Amino acid sequence: MVTMATSPPFQAVLDRIAEEIEQLPGRGRPADYIPALAALDPRRFGMAVAEPDGAVYGVGEWRQPFSTQSVTKVYTLALDLAREGDALWEHVGREPSGNPFNSLVQLEYENGIPRNPFINAGALVVTDRLHTRTGNAAGALLDFLRAESGNPELSFDKEVAASETAHGDRNAALAHFMASYGNIGNPVPVLLDQYFRQCSIDASCADLALATGFLARHGIGADGSRLLTRSQAKQVNAVMLTCGTYDAAGDFAYRVGLPGKSGVGGGIIAVVPGRCTLCVWSPGLDERGNSVAGVAALDRFTTLTGLSVF
Ligand code: GLU
Repeated sequence: MVTMATSPPFQAVLDRIAEEIEQLPGRGRPADYIPALAALDPRRFGMAVAEPDGAVYGVGEWRQPFSTQSVTKVYTLALDLAREGDALWEHVGREPSGNPFNSLVQLEYENGIPRNPFINAGALVVTDRLHTRTGNAAGALLDFLRAESGNPELSFDKEVAASETAHGDRNAALAHFMASYGNIGNPVPVLLDQYFRQCSIDASCADLALATGFLARHGIGADGSRLLTRSQAKQVNAVMLTCGTYDAAGDFAYRVGLPGKSGVGGGIIAVVPGRCTLCVWSPGLDERGNSVAGVAALDRFTTLTGLSVF
């Protein structure tokens, strides 16, 4: 096998990956607990790579907007960490949970402090804190994504947000339970509205690869301003590596070897610090909630290019 370790021609790598995994889109099933996502065709596939200077390459449906869902948890974590720093970690941990993303059981043992910011309970805490600081967490997130992707068209998908609200009993239970421990500051209905709008944002692989660039640039935003300290960018990448792909983070690290974050819309973002950011989308999910074709495509990317953090 040829390993392209220096200056990888990203377009050629992406074209080759799309060819190699041709049979995979279509495997797995779209998330059906959110009715608005259940109808997605699992054969859809797109992938993009962005370089730190903003050059972007893609294959398949890389400009097609999709439901970003839990991928957004990376950006709300970054936005909150930038504002409150280490104080955040008194309210949410940074250890893998080993439990499904919407599990309630661990919260009781651990007194309402979620294991990490990427399971739903942890993301609710982060959004709650960001909302307290900004007065509009979902709006702050949307502004951030528009600025970092350079795409002013990004927006909330009202149908998806409404669908999640109508089927949001589990998230409501998590939020109320944590509120009973004093770990939620806003009224639960206000928090849920913010959280569901956050998850409903539509963006393409190109948008998300670009918007994640600050993590490859060690905390520097698209306009050159500092969004996170170098150390905080490292921290976000580390939490992505250990907790970013539900309770399959060990397998993802083993196969892909990059910080990554998946969402039940079928998107996955990944970071090669200093080199590039990636986003892949294909709605067919495995039993743990990660895109089947998405994980395979990232696996091929690091194998073909030799670009990983290990
Ligand atoms: N909005 C989804 C939920 O809260 C996000 C889940 C995900 O993508 O992991 O259930």
